[in-house]
Amino acid sequence: TDFGFRKVDQKEKPSMVKAVFDSVAPKYDIMNDLMSLGIHRVWKQIFIQELAPRPNLTLLDLAGGTGDISFGWLKRGGGTAYLTDINYSMLSVGQGRALNRGYVDNIRLFCVDGENICLPDRSVDRVTISFGLRNCTHKENVLAEARRVLKPGGRFLCLEFSKLIIPMLRPLYDAWSFQALPRIGQIIAKDSESYQYLAESIRTFPDQETLKSMMENAGLERVTYQNLSGGIAAIHSGWRI
Ligand code: SAM
Repeated sequence: TDFGFRKVDQKEKPSMVKAVFDSVAPKYDIMNDLMSLGIHRVWKQIFIQELAPRPNLTLLDLAGGTGDISFGWLKRGGGTAYLTDINYSMLSVGQGRALNRGYVDNIRLFCVDGENICLPDRSVDRVTISFGLRNCTHKENVLAEARRVLKPGGRFLCLEFSKLIIPMLRPLYDAWSFQALPRIGQIIAKDSESYQYLAESIRTFPDQETLKSMMENAGLERVTYQNLSGGIAAIHSGWRI
């Protein structure tokens, strides 16, 4: 496969994303720590705090992968979590982690495509997608689906890489993501191409204001965002009123 730095065709994106996450699943958690120098844990903590888990609320965690957001939600007292992902390899790592943590009754795992969620309208209180939206081919569909399955008064939260607001840091950041990351990927996961794809997908993801407009176009309301680490990542929030 050669999906290094060329622009990814929309048609081949789903199969490529599947190949990437099949390949990285076993090493996904350790790679996150290495690639972000552990900072993703802090971002996710801020994200969970923002989610404000409560026992009477249900969470649909889209592109939930190995489960960080669902586990954070449960740990802080949230109600039933639906940990979902399109990729079975990622979910099965999540399933192992759920068992290790003793989460049985309060977590359900399903293979779900975020672009076509197999849930009725108005069925959940919170929908999250953390570092998942940039891997989806039709992001507008994901946002529309998230709104559709939310109950009125429900909230959608997205954690994703975003645009640096400190331009001086850009050369450093580019060197890290385009040169260091694929090398770390090669050494640890024996797979530099997947990490090249990840770096590229970060660079081409809509910036803060663009994603905000996309959420508004999908019918979400009171859309706001907060930058994390100078815009390396951002948390976007919107409500279904
Ligand atoms: N949410 C986890 C986290 O924050 O650590 C995992 C994020 S991981 C970088 C991205 C995930 O998006 C992968 O597990 C991948 O399988 C999933 N994904 C890609 N396209 C998807 C889609 N259309 N629907 C649902 N999940 C998708």
